[in-house]
Amino acid sequence: MLQKFDERNKDIKIYVKDGIYHRDEAKVSVFDSIVQGGDGVWEGLRVYNGGVFMLDRHLNRLMNSAKAMHFADLPSRSEVTKALFDTLKANGMMDGVHVRLTLTRGEKITSGMDPRLNTMGSTLIIVPEFKAPVYDNESGIAIITSSTRRNSPNNLDSKIHHNNLINNILAKIEANVAGADAALMLDNYGFASELNGTNIFMVKDNVMYTPHADACLPGITRGLVIELATDIGVRCIEKNISLTELYTADEVFSTGTMGELTPIKTIDGRDIENYNNTDIMNRLNSAFEKKIPEYCIKIV
Ligand code: PMP
Repeated sequence: MLQKFDERNKDIKIYVKDGIYHRDEAKVSVFDSIVQGGDGVWEGLRVYNGGVFMLDRHLNRLMNSAKAMHFADLPSRSEVTKALFDTLKANGMMDGVHVRLTLTRGEKITSGMDPRLNTMGSTLIIVPEFKAPVYDNESGIAIITSSTRRNSPNNLDSKIHHNNLINNILAKIEANVAGADAALMLDNYGFASELNGTNIFMVKDNVMYTPHADACLPGITRGLVIELATDIGVRCIEKNISLTELYTADEVFSTGTMGELTPIKTIDGRDIENYNNTDIMNRLNSAFEKKIPEYCIKIV
């Protein structure tokens, strides 16, 4: 699952602040808030066949995250959209592309935590790369439970899609050390929250379950999969899910922009019953693929 350098990305162009630069020239200031305090918000988006998937929902989450963080001098939604489309067009990228879009609090006049030191407006960074979904959706992934708990609203609200990713990175390190593909993070009560970079669903007796979005990111793919469950006539219930329920589920799968829908074949060494025959996940996948044209905003 370890990503490799893709030669097609050797000369890509990146948007930073107010211009588009070759990847070797694209730089942020050492005084930028992203360097000083991981003080930024971000989105991962995917481009399919000349359109950006679920762009409106990504912009909503970006703007809500920036508002919660009390950012000033934000670009408007149409300015972000224009910068995104211009960058994709400058790269001739119309399909099979992943975009990492980051909005930082901007450059500071001197080092320090205080947001009043940010007098130069926010910094928008758009990194588009040719990239297939990161997980192998045929063979599925093996996950382990991490000892790192996912943040709760008590400390850092997971509804802000911020760049302080240490919580999830520590969990990912545990997965790497254990030879697994991803880490399952629990909430403060010991219920499943999400994987270090994706959301989690399980199926038992033809009913789907997913954790409440209390300690996990309310993923855009998660939201769409809950809607698709209704379309394919399957109930989906948000509830507290224990490890035992996951170990004994009929199907378990993860959702997210980076991997789309991915079957989970083992959790802490327990084989998931139907990982070779994920009937409901396969039906959701077909429904997901059918929605792609409808939910893509055309690049103009
Ligand atoms: N959980 C975490 C921690 C994530 O970082 C992400 C993706 N950024 C997701 C879940 C999936 O969210 P989405 O479906 O919006 O990509």
